Amino acid sequence: DTLVNQIAAGEVIERPASVVKELVENAIDAGATRVDIDLEDGGVRLIRIRDDGGGIPPEELPLAIQRHATSKIASLDDLEAVATLGFRGEALPSIASVSRFSIASRQGRDGRGTVLLVEGGRVGEVAPKQLPPGTTVEVRDLFFNVPARRKFLRAERTELGHIEEWLRQLALARPDVELRVTHNGKPLRRYKGGESGTLFSADRLGETLGEEFLVNALQVDHETPVSTESGSTMRLRGWIARPAYSRASADQQYLYVNGRAVRDRSVAHAVKQAYADVLFHGRQPAYVLFLDVDPRRVDVNVHPAKHEVRFRDSRAIHEFVYRTLSAALAETRA
Ligand code: ADP
Ligand code: MG
Repeated sequence: DTLVNQIAAGEVIERPASVVKELVENAIDAGATRVDIDLEDGGVRLIRIRDDGGGIPPEELPLAIQRHATSKIASLDDLEAVATLGFRGEALPSIASVSRFSIASRQGRDGRGTVLLVEGGRVGEVAPKQLPPGTTVEVRDLFFNVPARRKFLRAERTELGHIEEWLRQLALARPDVELRVTHNGKPLRRYKGGESGTLFSADRLGETLGEEFLVNALQVDHETPVSTESGSTMRLRGWIARPAYSRASADQQYLYVNGRAVRDRSVAHAVKQAYADVLFHGRQPAYVLFLDVDPRRVDVNVHPAKHEVRFRDSRAIHEFVYRTLSAALAETRA
């Protein structure tokens, strides 16, 4: 079984940033309002994620590291309109098979804290532990038992850069969650939380992409029916940077579909085209855009790690994004 998990790890766990992503998504799925992320050596030596979410009761702790033992899919219907971030039930067993792993958790104020250690896939006993409510997962020495994978890890700064970029992407979409990051014992980043109810927040935009983006950001928020029959609507919210923004480049293009960060060539094309047509500007636009569409009209399960989506109304969406941004950008010229 360890082997099966290691093979699965080969697909989803590429580097420390993939571990951070899976663990922080679990924390958020568990309703965390604050997540502490401690890293050593770019995450290669240590990744520790502590959350204040719902926690796991002692009897369920061993299940968390079993393959396909997700607590998040109740029926096949859920698979289609999946609301949570992670839902495959293979992240923890995969990570635990290629690291020195521990998960410690306590459910609520009255629950008992317990901890479970796994070393390279070998599962230990559940033991009691004094803990605050919530969950802490520790991943040490990633790929210590898979030299072929370890060899592909890059320098500390590179791995840390991947982690930071992924956290930025998450932070933009979740201003309600506080994130604190340390590296080698020193504070690295702090995204203040507490913007509950708002899917997008100007404060968070400044924290993540900086003041210059913030002052040059043109805000959009527009909603329209998909078609006259379907009854569903699509909504585009967010910011696109005006040409005065000096750092505008392809590495600041963030697109979220129904709250999930995705890559989509068609939407990216629509944004770029609107920018070029209205502003006669050949540069890459910087943007943070949240596109909300009827979840039944988008397939998010195209690839577990690559974050591609397939829209049923791809042409209507291209048109909508293009028109919305063209109109907004045209006003800045007037
Ligand atoms: P998935 O997220 O796809 O369900 P994972 O392997 O990531 O699969 O996690 C397995 C299970 O462990 C989750 O379904 C959840 O029940 C539990 N779990 C993992 N991390 C946490 C956490 N931080 N807080 C509470 N429960 C957790
Ligand atoms: Mg998960």
